[in-house]
Amino acid sequence: MKPYVCVTCGVQFAPSDEPPARCPVCEDPRQYVGWSGQSWTTLAELREDHRADIREEEPGLTGIGCTPSFAIGQRALLVRSDQGNILWDCITLLDDAIIEAVRRLGGVAAIAISHPHYYSSMVEWAHAFDAPVYLHRADERWVMRPDPSVTFWEGDTHPLADGLELVRLGGHFEGGTVLHWAQGADGRGALLSGDIVQVVQDRRWVSFMRSYPNLVPLAGDDVRRIVARLDHYEFERLYGAWYGKVVAEVAKAAVARSADRYLAALDGRDD
Ligand SMILES: [Zn+2]
Ligand SMILES: [Zn+2]
Repeated sequence: MKPYVCVTCGVQFAPSDEPPARCPVCEDPRQYVGWSGQSWTTLAELREDHRADIREEEPGLTGIGCTPSFAIGQRALLVRSDQGNILWDCITLLDDAIIEAVRRLGGVAAIAISHPHYYSSMVEWAHAFDAPVYLHRADERWVMRPDPSVTFWEGDTHPLADGLELVRLGGHFEGGTVLHWAQGADGRGALLSGDIVQVVQDRRWVSFMRSYPNLVPLAGDDVRRIVARLDHYEFERLYGAWYGKVVAEVAKAAVARSADRYLAALDGRDD
């Protein structure tokens, strides 16, 4: 029995003798099946030709990615806290180098993930660090490897520690979640957004989509609700899901301005 990993989305499945017949995450209209058809790997195979790519993002925040890029290519973020570190989002690769580096930074007290595209090998991480995984209940059906470490939360907010709060924005996924880190950006606040709020190429702006690879936009009401919910939080900086995808300053105003531009485009108005 092996826990197979989908090559296109990087999600690890419950152990099976044969590779699963299909990947529901990739067959969902928000994703896609790889051009050569569904294919599978394992974490053991991934460790043979992928290495950790660990970078300090700012004091108290460390990026954990892998090179070469695998599947969707996101990096996770380790937020350091006196009350225990939080791993925000997750990657498929987990090897001795990553485990050692994370232990040196104080380990992981809890894992929280923005949405199913980054569930990756969360159960391996949970077992390695003896940490619970917090996922929003609305996305429960996308968990491909059920495990006692997975804890579902409900509603719109869930505090993880002082100054660290999960906020459900919905949008891209019904349970789409961001992490507000009050101490981030020298105490001015940071928002860790996965791709629920997506940093775009012009990094003074963000965008919102139902599907990024297939370019399906989000409804205007969803965008308005996201901005209204974020109005309760202060954040100077916004970290997207990939290295470099960061709105470095005045990020809260950038989100509001980007939402206005987006809604104007939906309505056919010039911005
Ligand atoms: Zn997949
Ligand atoms: Zn996504």
